[in-house]
Amino acid sequence: MKYVIVQGDGMADHPQHKLSGKTPLEAAKTPNMDTIASAGSLGRVNTIPPGLPPGSAVGNMSLMGLNPERYYTGRAPLEARGLGVDVEENDIAFRCNLVKFSKSGNRKTMKDYSGGNPTRREAESYVKLLDENIGGNEFRFYQGVSYRNLLLWKGGRTKVDYEDIHLTPPHDITGEPIEESLPRGAGSDLLRGIQEQAEKVLCKHGNSGNGIWLWGQGIGPEVPTLKERYGLGGTVISAVDLVKGLGIYSGLISAEVEGANGNIDTNYEGKVDAAKDSLTDGSLVFLHIEAPDEASHKGNLELKLEAIERIDQRILGPLIKHLESNNQGALLLVTDHITGLESGTHERGSVPFAIFRTSTKNENIDRSFSERCSNETGINFPRGYELIDFFLSEG
Ligand SMILES: [Zn+2]
Repeated sequence: MKYVIVQGDGMADHPQHKLSGKTPLEAAKTPNMDTIASAGSLGRVNTIPPGLPPGSAVGNMSLMGLNPERYYTGRAPLEARGLGVDVEENDIAFRCNLVKFSKSGNRKTMKDYSGGNPTRREAESYVKLLDENIGGNEFRFYQGVSYRNLLLWKGGRTKVDYEDIHLTPPHDITGEPIEESLPRGAGSDLLRGIQEQAEKVLCKHGNSGNGIWLWGQGIGPEVPTLKERYGLGGTVISAVDLVKGLGIYSGLISAEVEGANGNIDTNYEGKVDAAKDSLTDGSLVFLHIEAPDEASHKGNLELKLEAIERIDQRILGPLIKHLESNNQGALLLVTDHITGLESGTHERGSVPFAIFRTSTKNENIDRSFSERCSNETGINFPRGYELIDFFLSEG
């Protein structure tokens, strides 16, 4: 068997007034998603256990079949792995966003959690400046993709308990004053100091209004591989270091796809080609598309619909065709969490999934891949990490 998981990040949402009460998944034109939902199993999965932060790290961990309550140690170490950076036993890793601030009166607010989406070149120059001026033996900056960069605190665990550091995701405070959300708890003076210094360094080099924001801290996790759990090897295909890293921790190989950028204009065909190339018998491909999540964070309904439609046309269409021509495949279509257009952030709550198997197909069922339809089948995985057992064992 060949197994493909297609994860459209943050696709799930609430009914929208502008869509006459439909959700983006309901309103978008998605013939391929609807084929999967009709011909296969449709249901709901809760990827975010209570008490853990709703977001891609916990959500994708569940989808990889790992219980986040047991294995989640923060998102930054997963991203570090995706970047090829080793997080050693005593290290603490932090996501280091390039951000933009604005002044409102004498208060500083979070203008853009994505720092104006710097190009690779721009991000490279910023990270270099930060590492040269602030970095050293103890703190090291690493370039990731665009605004998503990394700070490693070497030996940080010998100084603070990483669980007592309290940081806020910057996309949760867009347009809000930053004062209340600055680092708190263990090491907070040091971390606030680094953020302040970074702003000065960037400003001094002609980038006024730019700064960094630290969050997503954690230590390197120890997780069992898919090979150990299911005897499966395979490939992870994503533009996002977090998902790559999680895949690599799970024993998958990360395929580099040129032009994969985490945005709406990512290289869809390149991702499908990479999936086809690496799909051999007894392997699994985890294919991730970031665009719907980004559109939701920006509150952009049109862009979210477009992102969902592109996944349908340019990823699912060709992949279904490919699996059908081989007649020995299964595809799990899913999303890692709700990202609300209205809230602009990740939310708790179960999300739709659908499983399509070339071997067993329903006939005369007509339903759509949506929050509403998935609620009506009665199939539900409250512990999201158990969904993969169902996917890999049936058929
Ligand atoms: Zn996500």
